[in-house]
Amino acid sequence: MARVLIVEDEPDAAHLLEIHLRKAGHEPELAENGARGLVIARTTSPDLIILDNMLPGMNGMEVCRSLREDPATRQVPIIMLTARAAELDRIKGLESGVDDYVTKPYSIKELMLRVQAILRRRQPVEVGSQKLSVGGLEIDLASQTVLVNGEPERLTSLEFKLLTTLARHAGAPVARQNLLTEVWGYAANTDSRTLDSHVRRLRSKLGPLAVKLETVQGTGYRLVV
Ligand code: CA
Repeated sequence: MARVLIVEDEPDAAHLLEIHLRKAGHEPELAENGARGLVIARTTSPDLIILDNMLPGMNGMEVCRSLREDPATRQVPIIMLTARAAELDRIKGLESGVDDYVTKPYSIKELMLRVQAILRRRQPVEVGSQKLSVGGLEIDLASQTVLVNGEPERLTSLEFKLLTTLARHAGAPVARQNLLTEVWGYAANTDSRTLDSHVRRLRSKLGPLAVKLETVQGTGYRLVV
């Protein structure tokens, strides 16, 4: 399951995307213009953004530029939707910051294949079905043990949950709210300083790999690959 942000002003097009994403098991969120899209992207750190280029106010390319300039959203993959063939050359350019693009009118099946391909690409390597491997970290989900550069490290169950949540989104920032919800399960009642103190303890246990657990100012935390 992935959180996918759709930035599209046409309600019918947005709704169609929403239905197909849900059917594929994902959690879509809608923004009807670029400014709203930027706010949602920054606060919820989605796994993927589907961005229409034809938007009122800021167009898709401008939204894309802002997403790439912000450390909180720099690494979120973007699929751009474009109606005009004339825009294609700019979008195809590597400097545009777009990961993939689809021209309108598009086949929803084709778009969903690209969504799956991008989401697969950014998943951490699964070693067997019960292990996650990120950089020098090896996380055994079945036995709840962690190897740091091959050395076993003892984590509390909350620290373990925090680490696996970050590892599942490796490379992308995870918003504080999402960490609180996924790790503690009841975000509204959790003092967010609890999160910071757990991150501090987790870092100290990661030893030389502590630098891999980055603070993303204003958003949350990221485990870099
Ligand atoms: Ca549009």
